[in-house]
Amino acid sequence: MEAEKSYDPGDSTLKFVNRQDDLDPLDDDLVSLRAEMSCGHAVTPQSLTGWCRSLLDQGQCKFMCPALKNGTLQKCGAEWSYQEVRRLAALTTEEMQHFEKTMAALAAAIYCEYKSCPVCRTFVQRQALSNLNVLCTVCTADKGQRYEFCWQCLKQWKGPAPRSDRCNNDGCINQDLELLKNCKTTTLPQKLTTNNYRRKRTNNIYSTPLLLFKDTDH
Ligand SMILES: [Zn+2]
Ligand SMILES: [Zn+2]
Ligand SMILES: [Zn+2]
Repeated sequence: MEAEKSYDPGDSTLKFVNRQDDLDPLDDDLVSLRAEMSCGHAVTPQSLTGWCRSLLDQGQCKFMCPALKNGTLQKCGAEWSYQEVRRLAALTTEEMQHFEKTMAALAAAIYCEYKSCPVCRTFVQRQALSNLNVLCTVCTADKGQRYEFCWQCLKQWKGPAPRSDRCNNDGCINQDLELLKNCKTTTLPQKLTTNNYRRKRTNNIYSTPLLLFKDTDH
């Protein structure tokens, strides 16, 4: 078990309340200090850490309040920023590292499903994590023949497909780590929400060029 965390009673940036912990209503511990989140629900560092950790474990990178709205069976659903969570959960250095690493990996998994075609620069969505072979429909239409490139080395595809480890181009190696680093700095337009991405991904059968946005790395 980890050491119990508690708030510093002298921390004037927190709003302490005398109510039950909304994240853990069965908890009868009324000794630990409880603080109020931006949505108005009361938490302790323990319950907030535990809840947010369980969200990350389930692959959720947004921190949503699970407490019930006053007197109803409706969930609050307010989204807390990581900054708020970090402060009110009193995350330790180790926990911060775990949270930030997991959040970056989850974001990368979502955003990195798109890469620009090495020839026409159109964004193309990857269809299966187990296949590095990607078809660019724009180039295929332009050239009048299938244009496939490699998700990993971004060169024209060489060799048999599907394949998950590499294509037959020289120097095609797994660069997952570089990918994660690069993806952190990718900027996407706000209107493309995670849900839109998910929906697009499940509806498409073939890789679809995404013409809505261009590479904004620079
Ligand atoms: Zn709430
Ligand atoms: Zn292309
Ligand atoms: Zn390759």
